[in-house]
Amino acid sequence: MISLSIHNFGCRVNQAEALLWADEFQEKGIRLEKDFQQSDFVLINSCTLTHRSDRDVKKFIKRVSRSNPKARVIVTGCLVEGAYEDLQALPQTWRLFRNTDKNDLAARVVSMIRPQEKPLPRVNFRSRALLKIQDGCNFQCTFCIIPTVRGKSSSLPLKEIIAQGKKFVSQGYKEIVLTGVHICSYGRDLKSRGNFRGLLQEMEKIEGLRKIRLSSLDPRFLSGPMLEHIAASSKICPHFHLSLQYGADDILARMGRKIKVADYHRILAYLRKNSPQASLGADIIIGFPGESEEDFEATYHFLEKSPLTYFHVFPYSPRPGTAASSWLQTDENVKKRRASLLRKLSRQKNLNFRCQFLERELDGIVIKKDKDGAEILTYNYFKVAAPRCSSEEREEVRVKIKKASQKETIGVMASS
Ligand code: SF4
Repeated sequence: MISLSIHNFGCRVNQAEALLWADEFQEKGIRLEKDFQQSDFVLINSCTLTHRSDRDVKKFIKRVSRSNPKARVIVTGCLVEGAYEDLQALPQTWRLFRNTDKNDLAARVVSMIRPQEKPLPRVNFRSRALLKIQDGCNFQCTFCIIPTVRGKSSSLPLKEIIAQGKKFVSQGYKEIVLTGVHICSYGRDLKSRGNFRGLLQEMEKIEGLRKIRLSSLDPRFLSGPMLEHIAASSKICPHFHLSLQYGADDILARMGRKIKVADYHRILAYLRKNSPQASLGADIIIGFPGESEEDFEATYHFLEKSPLTYFHVFPYSPRPGTAASSWLQTDENVKKRRASLLRKLSRQKNLNFRCQFLERELDGIVIKKDKDGAEILTYNYFKVAAPRCSSEEREEVRVKIKKASQKETIGVMASS
């Protein structure tokens, strides 16, 4: 029996694509293998968001061929768009597929492999389902390579999304994560002129679906009615992650992000007031060209005073082909120092927030189960270790928070 392993780099969109490919391969009799050292084919879904992503993908390709020389390596994803010739020149790569080939990638691979087997029983590789609703982006933020490698914004038809959502529920998933490159743009390119809020209203009607988690939200699209909807919905997880990118207006302008920090204050204050349990997260780029010590201090102060409960900090990485890559760059050591200060602040704010839930009960999904107990992801985005848990992966549970520290949150199972 032919075996294949899938390795994702980068974003949730890549993970959502791989989840559907996994099903298709199993339906065609290809055995999914977690360990790339044991598989006949290794499919890599690559990323090119930062120079580090490029380096990690290339390193992994070489590692596969060193530890499993017989494996045939297939590469797709954003690095293929950005470095086709480089990857083609690598003796280790067997086939390359562009992002535009992804919609029927599994069928293309199957037609090359020609498995002779019957369909295999479906094996789950995830505890929560990721559903890609949209791809590409129509913006041109000065630091971002994504529009170049993933193209213009394109939305999946509503019918297809709802059908896939229902299929995930029938496969036992309790939580679906809606993902895309720019999910707030959903529907704008469709003849039916749908929109993201309309999609949410339809998803909320799916029977048996417990929770919908939203991936990154662009604050420029969070209108009053949109904010009201996501904060009030009993189906949408109280976890809102915003692509803020920075906390000072002059740098936001240089990034091409037509929004002001004052708007961030308004949006975050509304979400905190109307969804008190919610985790509020943000992406922040540090060390952008032209960033002064004053800009950094203003951003630090904004984040410190904000109701945000965590932020992902990305040291700016110049991407060839983006406007900002040709501007005067910030010193790497300065970037490192500022990034570590923000990460420290994020850890402290997150601990303070988790401590507010001591002795309180939260609902969530078992995302990992082993001999040491379970790991639960609560709907408001806490990872909780529960030593004694009889429930299985993907099951919905209630957990009482007993301890919170910098490195972990511990809970005991509560009767739901
Ligand atoms: S940062 Fe987001 S909105 Fe801006 S170009 Fe990239 S994907 Fe689009």
